[in-house]
Amino acid sequence: MEKYRVKSSNKLSRSSILIWRAVQYTVWLIGVYIIYNLIFNPTLGIHLFWNILIPIAPLLLVFLAGLWRNVCPMASMSLLFRHLGMSKRKKLTIKQSGKLNLIAIIALFIIVPMRHAIFDMNGPATAILLFSIAAIAIVVGFFYEWKSAWCSGLCPIHPVEKLYGQKSKLSLPNAHCNQCFKCVTPCPDSTPNINPLSTSKTIYHKLTGFLTIGAFPGFVWGWFQFPDFQGIYSFGQLIMIYKQPMLGAIVTTLAYVILKRYINKNELIKLFAALAISCYYWFRIPALLGFGIFPGDGMLIDLSSTIPEFFIYIIVSAIILFISSWLIFSKKRKNSWTIRPIYAKSNNKLINGKNY
Ligand code: SF4
Repeated sequence: MEKYRVKSSNKLSRSSILIWRAVQYTVWLIGVYIIYNLIFNPTLGIHLFWNILIPIAPLLLVFLAGLWRNVCPMASMSLLFRHLGMSKRKKLTIKQSGKLNLIAIIALFIIVPMRHAIFDMNGPATAILLFSIAAIAIVVGFFYEWKSAWCSGLCPIHPVEKLYGQKSKLSLPNAHCNQCFKCVTPCPDSTPNINPLSTSKTIYHKLTGFLTIGAFPGFVWGWFQFPDFQGIYSFGQLIMIYKQPMLGAIVTTLAYVILKRYINKNELIKLFAALAISCYYWFRIPALLGFGIFPGDGMLIDLSSTIPEFFIYIIVSAIILFISSWLIFSKKRKNSWTIRPIYAKSNNKLINGKNY
């Protein structure tokens, strides 16, 4: 995988490591604060998590995916054993890696619609969801080398990182891996212009890339066509929360299959990424400010009686235009999310007498 190497090597100074650890610890504490509120003060917890953190995340992934990869609290927990030198550091086969990626996108498609029935209104349930995800992240981090099993494997956000983070603005230092053990190839963190089709070594990778690009935009659109409601009391209701996102996913998948014949693959990935994020902010920003199509759903602050609706949509259109132009038209940079650390001289567990 020589072509995926980043020329510059990266060895963080001691002071840089300390700064990154301080930032990681701070973000982790913010995560703990959010979970505390989800359990004991659900209204605030839901606002902090679903109405502030999650709406900011896509923007962060487009411009500074490396920053998110460096400070994500789930990543910090998953990599804790590795930092402490206690991880088993197993290496995934390419097939296993592909399977994890496929599970990740399927998990995303299963979990997100459940927001309408449970998580958007129920702080403790969201906390349980986050605890469960954290437990999985920690366990796989204990067994497998660096980010291979969680951050670049099972994490349900990872497919979206690859879709939105194709043109990251900056390559930051890798604040987790002290040396590169090539635990995953191509490494999403260290590969310039990574996208959902950068890895197509197995049918699992191909399917994951296909679903991420083709199905995700329609899934996002469909998700916004259904209101929040409390609880699921019948199988019919369960079907309802999945119906619109799945219909949307099918429509854009078909469009993707057709367009693939006529449009260059890389152009199409950028186009579908722009479509997905535009759809997200077109519905999400008005909802946050009290102009949602289902009044009150996902609302952070009600400005509906203070600001004219058209003004909100002018701002939203400007934001969408900016992000889409960035994804579609901005100059292709040879930026990876983070700079690859120096390659390890050996894949042995003990290097220079230390257990890395
Ligand atoms: S930089 Fe190297 S060790 Fe770190 S996640 Fe990427 S491939 Fe694995």
